[in-house]
Amino acid sequence: MRLLKSWVSSANSKFTEFPLNNLPYGVFSTTKLEKRCGIAIGDMILDCRAVEEAGLIKFSAGTMFKDPFWNNLMKLERNEWTRFRKEITLLLSLDTNPEKLINMLIPQSKVELHIPFVVSEFTDFWSCKYHAINAGTMLRGAENALPLNWNHMPIGYNGRASSVIVSGTNFNRPWGQLKRPNDTLPFLAPSKRFDFELEIGAIVGSKSNGPLTVQQADDIIFGYVLLNDWSARDIQAWEGQPLGPFQAKATATTISPWIVTKEALIPLQCGPPTRENELLDHLKDCGPMFYDISLTVSLTPQKGKPSIITQTNYKEMYYSSAQQIAHHSSSGCPMRVGDLIGSGTISGSQKSERGSMLELSWGGKEPLNLTNGGTRSFLEDLDTVTFHGKGTKEDFTIGFGNCTGTLLPALKYPY
Ligand code: CA
Repeated sequence: MRLLKSWVSSANSKFTEFPLNNLPYGVFSTTKLEKRCGIAIGDMILDCRAVEEAGLIKFSAGTMFKDPFWNNLMKLERNEWTRFRKEITLLLSLDTNPEKLINMLIPQSKVELHIPFVVSEFTDFWSCKYHAINAGTMLRGAENALPLNWNHMPIGYNGRASSVIVSGTNFNRPWGQLKRPNDTLPFLAPSKRFDFELEIGAIVGSKSNGPLTVQQADDIIFGYVLLNDWSARDIQAWEGQPLGPFQAKATATTISPWIVTKEALIPLQCGPPTRENELLDHLKDCGPMFYDISLTVSLTPQKGKPSIITQTNYKEMYYSSAQQIAHHSSSGCPMRVGDLIGSGTISGSQKSERGSMLELSWGGKEPLNLTNGGTRSFLEDLDTVTFHGKGTKEDFTIGFGNCTGTLLPALKYPY
């Protein structure tokens, strides 16, 4: 596939993240326009509500864009997702006369972006082997780093949809019950070991009822976003004996504002990693369901300059989102339109490729030197963490935009 040419000239650069090949879905507002669905093209946004009101796109199911979220389209059959994408591609292509559409474009510099879909439920996995080995080594030693079940199934836990926020939404350092190894009793205090987790989230676009094959699970994925699963390591260490994350990961989960559709990611697909052991039939690989997407994390202290602290790739995953969803459904657990499935922290084999402060500072024992001055073991107040993700082909780039958030100081506890 080559770069598709658009009459929106900024979309024709080899370097733009939003060429006609991408067309990611977001929700925006301006000082004049209330919240609505839009599609990024070059440095502009196409106002979907205006396009629909002008009769340039139609759905037999009725009006699709009167609400400021994408769930109405997600609810439709997969062939409707494809048809819509084809029609938008045609409307924005170089062969189309832009006369009717030119007033429906808004510069991205003039908008505020909002969460693009209503999140039904949030499940987070732990499916990157480098991360699992790093975390396991710190907890149990190198000999027992991976639990016995790890090579047989994607391990996960059910998180909270209520605290999923869009990039740019800041939040306060959480309070929690803490107990360090030498404390006799636990105490309530702001987390001192607050962290980010570099992840990608898959968005479920069709509901299911009953077990799904890996192929069926892949078929219900609507698109992907960057995801920061903020984590309080000290809350997690005390509460997680023995159950999985609870308050440690309930404060906030940040997602990038653009849903990059699965169709846009097809040119970046790649095959599975080498398997340690044969997977059970319901999880067997059945096609290229991994993606070559380079990921970076930068950390910017208050009034400081950004330092790139991690560079890795989404293809480092051991289990795909499709395998995670197939496993999730194996008990009969239904999937809903708008479910968000976190990949788990993405780390590479190298030290510079680690996707969390826990790993970068090795549990706080080896503080990380920031390239622009200072050191960090965990996040400090007013640190900004920004993820960036993109995949490149010969003459075009598919990007996700930024996923960013600033950690504000803890508020006074309300009593
Ligand atoms: Ca996580």
